[in-house]
Amino acid sequence: MTESVKAIVAEEAGKSLQQKLIERRALQPDDVKIDILYCGICHSDLHLINDDFGGSKYPMVPGHEIVGSVTELGSAVTSFKVGDLAAVGCIVDSCGECASCKIDLQQFCEVGTTLSFNSPDKYLGGMTYGGYSKTYVCKDKYMLHMPSNLDLAAAAPLLCAGITVYSPLKHWKAGPGKVVGVLGIGGLGHMAIRIAKAMGAHVVVLTTSQSKIDDAKRLSADEAVLSTDASQMKKYASKIDLIIDTVSARHDVNMYLDLLAIDGSMVLVGLPDSALEVQPFKVVKGRRSFAGSNIGGIGETQEMLEFCSKHGIVADIELIPAERINEALTRLAKHDVKYRFVIDMATLN
Ligand code: NAP
Ligand code: ZN
Repeated sequence: MTESVKAIVAEEAGKSLQQKLIERRALQPDDVKIDILYCGICHSDLHLINDDFGGSKYPMVPGHEIVGSVTELGSAVTSFKVGDLAAVGCIVDSCGECASCKIDLQQFCEVGTTLSFNSPDKYLGGMTYGGYSKTYVCKDKYMLHMPSNLDLAAAAPLLCAGITVYSPLKHWKAGPGKVVGVLGIGGLGHMAIRIAKAMGAHVVVLTTSQSKIDDAKRLSADEAVLSTDASQMKKYASKIDLIIDTVSARHDVNMYLDLLAIDGSMVLVGLPDSALEVQPFKVVKGRRSFAGSNIGGIGETQEMLEFCSKHGIVADIELIPAERINEALTRLAKHDVKYRFVIDMATLN
């Protein structure tokens, strides 16, 4: 039997979200059910609510930065106990057998990754419903173990913002002796500063906001550059080894490619809704790369949680009650959040 639970629902693009009942599936033998304690609000939620990419299906329950506690186990589950802290990120299923799944890159599953919301739901039909809700049901292999030493509300953003920057920082070998630029200091960007610093890199913030220049040191960056000031930008020409680009809107990437050292890489994780133009000479000069990265696999997400637990890394959050969701989304669209909204699910009744 399905279970009716309260959720925050987008009924169509551009409309205010509302509290409604949705159905969660009855537990399968390999399922784990959690009561959701906190869910972060990612800019991807906003893109999908607004149908920025054209693939949104409504009604939609957004949310993929989900932290909770286990309340029920399917008959075959041995890796969790009732009462454990657990988490769900962006990925809730994949084929498990293709070349990508075999190397823990379930986000590139050749058959198709099931995301925690707005993906076809194999059990109930329709689309998966995300974490702006009271409960989540997920296969044990895709459920994560949540470290107990972190503030749980502030740790929720690790489930998307954290892994999305951890994965490319690790892949492109951020560490001692490397200069890492972080472009766009929002939810992803401020996590990238802390994670790159904990990996041992020298971190340079690249921001359009003066107030974030003032905040950069507190966030543990070594240097900060106001990207709208050409004279400040010029000083960093050919100085940066790796830039993580988290900008959510269309922007000129060429002025940042100029900052890359020889063999440097600029890695796009932000998802502007239209094409970006790369000028050929900006990459042929210096043998530079312009690349991209998408979240991270389940094993790597668990590894990131352990890394953040060890280094005490969480997000700076503004905890909101469920009733303030529409105000939070309006403010997120204006970059008016330092640095992540998180919904306190105890307030959704
Ligand atoms: P966010 O909190 O809104 O931060 C985005 C930041 O980008 C802003 O704070 C701002 O930083 C900068 N920015 C925005 N518009 C800009 C513009 N026109 N020009 C220059 N800078 C601008 O968003 P988020 O949650 O961190 O997500 C960032 C992007 O990553 C979104 O597009 C999201 O969908 C995407 N995302 C991708 C993945 C993936 O796996 N690839 C995963 C999660 C999210 P400053 O004020 O510092 O300039
Ligand atoms: Zn996200």
